[in-house]
Amino acid sequence: MTAQTDLNNSLLTAIQPDHGGRVILDPATGEPIGRAPEHSVVDLQEAIDAAKAAQPGWAALGHAQRTSLLNKAADAIEAHAEELARILSREQGKPLNGPNARFEVGACVAWLRAAADTPLEPETVVDDGTTRAVLTYRPLGVVAAIGPWNWPMMITVWQLGPALRMGNTVVVKPSEHTPLSVLALVKVINEALPAGVLSAVSGGREVGEALAGHPGVDKVMFTGSTATGKAIVRSSADTLKRLTLELGGNDPGIVLPDADPKAIAEGLFWGAFINTGQTCAALKRLYVHQDIYDQVCQAITDYAANVPMGVGLEEQNVLGPLQNASQYAIVKDLVQAAKDSGARILLGGNPDPEAKGYFYPTTLVADIDNTNPLVAQEQFGPALPIIKYTDIEDAVKMANALEVGLGASVWSSDREKAREVAARIEAGTVWINEHGAIDPRVPFGGAKQSGYGLEFGVEGLKHLGQPQIIKG
Ligand code: NAD
Repeated sequence: MTAQTDLNNSLLTAIQPDHGGRVILDPATGEPIGRAPEHSVVDLQEAIDAAKAAQPGWAALGHAQRTSLLNKAADAIEAHAEELARILSREQGKPLNGPNARFEVGACVAWLRAAADTPLEPETVVDDGTTRAVLTYRPLGVVAAIGPWNWPMMITVWQLGPALRMGNTVVVKPSEHTPLSVLALVKVINEALPAGVLSAVSGGREVGEALAGHPGVDKVMFTGSTATGKAIVRSSADTLKRLTLELGGNDPGIVLPDADPKAIAEGLFWGAFINTGQTCAALKRLYVHQDIYDQVCQAITDYAANVPMGVGLEEQNVLGPLQNASQYAIVKDLVQAAKDSGARILLGGNPDPEAKGYFYPTTLVADIDNTNPLVAQEQFGPALPIIKYTDIEDAVKMANALEVGLGASVWSSDREKAREVAARIEAGTVWINEHGAIDPRVPFGGAKQSGYGLEFGVEGLKHLGQPQIIKG
């Protein structure tokens, strides 16, 4: 199917305003793909009023009925999966194939079903014959779900799934870079939900700011940059809103000297380059022991050189463009600065100035200093710096040196040894011999300035409820 015929997407037509709106461009081609409504603060007030009005009825349905309706919503996503994946691919840039657009739609279904089905039983904290105390979780009220542009649909489901399951109503604010895919997702989920329970407002930072600071909002689920996370903390102060903040990362990976370079090359590659590097918990700086440094550099280069990048609707591609101009400029400038500092380019580093889209080639950079900005800053694109170390103490110190701590990984043929190193790393999740492999049953959240609060699993549900003790 060509890009042009793909515009005959009824879901895409249905979410566009009758007139006006903001034109959204395909980052792979520069072609317009649709118009997103520009909601005002008045629209936002209406959405919050509707969410407030719908919340008591939604809470009164109880867990079993909400579970059933959320599973129906997951059925609806499955029924529209290909349409959703195509909107996502065109808007975000990620290819249909590989761990990309179709995969993301599949993850929406999996995470929504997990939020619907995970049991959360009342917890008897004490029951000794004289004292009885039971911990339960009441709904919080209205939840704001504010998301980024890299995994726009999946992250929206991470936020709204547990919120709805716990009896809250939700107002979603997608990133201004990727509103269409999220509006389409919300429309599909709403096929299964009562009116007012879930709505979306589309607009820029000012709409996000108004939503996050609104007195009618009881909790903000936010995924995005650390800087915006801090702004949300400040705007939550007056009403003491509950917050879950999933913020930026700059994940280290440490390869121990006993690892097998050829065996780990594929895992290292996808750990770093999933979604063309635009993933919060992707491997962004790789520390390799000097004994196997050259072999690891060679193995990952051999693998990376054969991974196709291109327009997302073309089925053979599994890497795509950067999503927007500013992200492209960040990656280009950081790699250029690394080159200027004398670092060695193993692959890529030479963007085509004539390219129509924001394509930056898969780039591997060796012999780079740990203080280089390509290492120390969150580059959020398809460029991986590979740093040599001699002493594991230094590698752990370098891994822990930054203010962020989302994910990390340790690679070794000895799992026990890897776990010992993992326990010393300041990150919310440390993977062994893989990186970024999330699971709806396993809690996920950041350490240090990568945020606070947990998502997924039973812990994720608890973060969307008000704990209440009934004693006596
Ligand atoms: P961003 O912070 O620029 O924007 C995220 C959202 O916040 C957008 O919807 C935006 O409109 C809104 N917003 C902006 N200012 C606001 C304000 N003052 N109050 C309320 N909302 C406001 O982030 P981005 O550039 O879209 O996303 C990339 C960043 O997100 C990266 O740093 C990445 O690491 C991080 N991220 C983290 C996770 C995670 O799970 N930890 C997942 C994905 C992305």
